[in-house]
Amino acid sequence: MKDFIRDTEIEELLRKAGSPDRKQVLEIIAKSRELKGLAPEETAVLLQTDDPELILAIYETAREIKQSIYGNRLVLFAPLYIANYCSNNCLYCGFRRDNKELNRVALSMEQVAEEVRAIEREGHKRLLMLCGEHPSRSSLDYFIEAIETAYATHTEEGGEIRRINVEIAPMNVPDFKRLKAANIGTYVLFQETYHHETYRAMHPHGPKADFAWRLTAMHRAQEAGIDDVGLGALFGLYDYRYEVLGLLIHARTLEADCGVGPHTISIPRLEPAFNAPAASSPPRPVSDEEFKKLVAIIRMAVPYTGMILSTRESPEIRTAVFELGISQISAGSRTNPGGYAKDSSEGFRAAQFNLGDTRTADEVIHDITTRGHIPSFCTACYRLGRTGRDFMDLAKPGLIQHFCRSNAMMTFKEYLMDYASPRTKEVGEQLLAGLVERTEKLETRQILIERLGRIERGERDLFI
Ligand code: SAM
Ligand code: SF4
Repeated sequence: MKDFIRDTEIEELLRKAGSPDRKQVLEIIAKSRELKGLAPEETAVLLQTDDPELILAIYETAREIKQSIYGNRLVLFAPLYIANYCSNNCLYCGFRRDNKELNRVALSMEQVAEEVRAIEREGHKRLLMLCGEHPSRSSLDYFIEAIETAYATHTEEGGEIRRINVEIAPMNVPDFKRLKAANIGTYVLFQETYHHETYRAMHPHGPKADFAWRLTAMHRAQEAGIDDVGLGALFGLYDYRYEVLGLLIHARTLEADCGVGPHTISIPRLEPAFNAPAASSPPRPVSDEEFKKLVAIIRMAVPYTGMILSTRESPEIRTAVFELGISQISAGSRTNPGGYAKDSSEGFRAAQFNLGDTRTADEVIHDITTRGHIPSFCTACYRLGRTGRDFMDLAKPGLIQHFCRSNAMMTFKEYLMDYASPRTKEVGEQLLAGLVERTEKLETRQILIERLGRIERGERDLFI
């Protein structure tokens, strides 16, 4: 598999879109409402739009699309960094090789279990497991052992991790097969930037310097049978419009070649990091307004691809973009290995980057609940084998509403019973009662009343 990103092609798309006229933009906005996605040419036109009135129309449409496909759900997860040794030297990352002042840590399996118990006590059921890229300190054997440890670790109160997504360096097909056999959920990997020259400048040493090896990782993962993959770009390294088109071309190439596109797209924005020169002064900073715009446009261009937002962003920005298209969020995160079990002010010396949202998981959950979002800890699709193309077949508005909304409510009920603070429990129960009442389909409403009652009486892990 060869490099399929042509810088000139993307630049030409943006150049051709120029300063689009109003009629053309409105036509594309109308087309996006059909929920069939947008071509790169059309997406380029939206990206080149800067008329404030049209931007508002873009926001409005993204809100409608998010609402009709995903409803009010926000799926929650916690990142778990197990090691920060790295042989790469990405100029924006605190883990980079040349950061000699970083406290290097590779958690033992006992420490991994301690971290997992701390995360489970916050109510999380989903992990995103990550580490640096290092041949001996972050080997695949080590990583797989950590996955097995995390799945096997339960708290006395019944806390358990039901799905582990992973974000680690690209590998060959046999190794991807081993990763799949470890029962992972989604394989996530960010291209960082789709612009070759910027990529070269940002990744001066180590295996990550190979743009094409990273770009084609998702194809190899699919070849190895991992049909749930997640793309991402690190916004702030190069022109955000270029990166959105890069992501879209990557998604479409995967779909054409492997029969299924990415399950998710992540949109990390560059944050300050310890001893990371490119993080303290981003080469191409993305403003809050541009960030909102790119979230809305991705929602319109790939309506059925989940969009992930991390705690890199501040609570204010997170709140503003949830309704524009975000479907998954992290909460209560630590980016230093060992940071959940032992919170210390020295954490930043081992962390990958600084957090924009430092609230606890319960504070985040309280906040989103009061805003009418349904916090979801659901892991049903993966465990029922509804992944890849099967998931995409299910991802029709009506079906998502039936399955995902109900499962979100059941897992949220578990959270309220087992982990919520009194104030979160109060607003959460009110939200659930209102949702049951507003469930139009009689059959779904009856299932919900029956299952929520069973959870109240002590049953757990119910899903449809
Ligand atoms: N080492 C692997 C890799 O590079 O793909 C695993 C994931 S790395 C720990 C997670 C991601 O964090 C990177 O892909 C990068 O996009 C992001 N990241 C690194 N430094 C960052 C910073 N200063 N601000 C925001 N995100 C950052
Ligand atoms: Fe290592 Fe990943 Fe950080 Fe690059 S982004 S220095 S590969 S941990």
